[in-house]
Amino acid sequence: MKCLSKDMTIQGLVDKLYNSGNLDDDELCKLIADDEKNDLCKLHVEKSVELCKLEQTSLFKMADSKRREIYGEDVYIRGLIEMTNYCKNDCFYCGIRRSNSCVKRYRMTDDEIMSTCQRGYELGFRTFVLQGGEDSFYTDSKMCEIVSKIRNRYPDCAITLSIGEKSRESYKAYFEAGANRYLLRHETASDSHYRKLHPDYMSLDNRKRCLYDLKEIGYQVGSGFMVGSPYQTTDDLIKDIRFLQDLDPDMIGIGPFIPAANTPFEKFANDGLELTLRMIAILRLIFPYALIPATTALGSIHPEGREMGLMSGANVIMPNLTPTQNRKNYKLYDNKICMDDDPEICIGCIENRVSKAGYKIVNNIGNPKRKEFK
Ligand code: SAH
Repeated sequence: MKCLSKDMTIQGLVDKLYNSGNLDDDELCKLIADDEKNDLCKLHVEKSVELCKLEQTSLFKMADSKRREIYGEDVYIRGLIEMTNYCKNDCFYCGIRRSNSCVKRYRMTDDEIMSTCQRGYELGFRTFVLQGGEDSFYTDSKMCEIVSKIRNRYPDCAITLSIGEKSRESYKAYFEAGANRYLLRHETASDSHYRKLHPDYMSLDNRKRCLYDLKEIGYQVGSGFMVGSPYQTTDDLIKDIRFLQDLDPDMIGIGPFIPAANTPFEKFANDGLELTLRMIAILRLIFPYALIPATTALGSIHPEGREMGLMSGANVIMPNLTPTQNRKNYKLYDNKICMDDDPEICIGCIENRVSKAGYKIVNNIGNPKRKEFK
């Protein structure tokens, strides 16, 4: 996409975005695609976090000042439990897609899930995120049983599900069993791009239907997309922003695409770091109240990627609580970090990283700035 030439400078665009919370397509295009060595949009990723702090340029400074205005230094933690890597879907980018026969498949039992929650609870986590492939072993009644067990044992915790596309009835049943939140990235809001990332039987319409159903049922909803995925254009990223403005989710998760071995996209480029940071900063300015995680993918593409994410406007980290023997098989992409660490070690490491970036972890359940957790 060629951005129509605009008179406004990058600084002017950043100021406008900061003050009004929106830009038109052409202005967004200029801010997203600007690569004329314009320092105002560059975080110096090749340098250390310490230097990043000094050299943060305008877009990032403004995003950070917006996040501090609303959230101060607070960083929320969510404990991730990767409950199954069986998946009936075949998304071209994903390392645990059905056709990847190199994956050693596992699923966690109820007891394993409960003891993982217990360990997380003792470490201070008050949100458990159950994520997995689309695994029909976990029928609705099985899922509801798991959710209500967690709900009964931890009435003071939030339960987040991230188990893919289901019917409205299924989402309703999980909600009634005690789940409060659901994460489902839309992946891309452009139909033609969606087709290039997914097999024919999947559809963007259904993905969107799921998200609107979840919202109507009463879930706090998280959506998002990969940055730098194969065939993605600036125009697609603008569509992602427009879709999110319509959906108005509570959480927006974005991360760089990272190629996964034995997938159709294994040979694609791995260069989404800078653009992801820039998109985080833009999203923070458009959605000042959103929960925006500094994702594991960001930490996997660069040793200090999550710190940089926080400094660009992110305010959530999702440490991995999955038992180590399973974790190594939940390989969505290559070189995923923290594959062998114990949760205790993970949380210590994350505390250091968060404070090094200039923020602090708070152990609350919800998002006090947006919706009261009930
Ligand atoms: N089955 C669930 C969980 C998917 S895994 C669902 O459909 O929501 C969580 C996220 O990991 C995906 O939404 C996708 O955006 C991301 N992901 C998958 N493969 C990836 C890759 N190769 N690089 C970066 N992120 C990836």
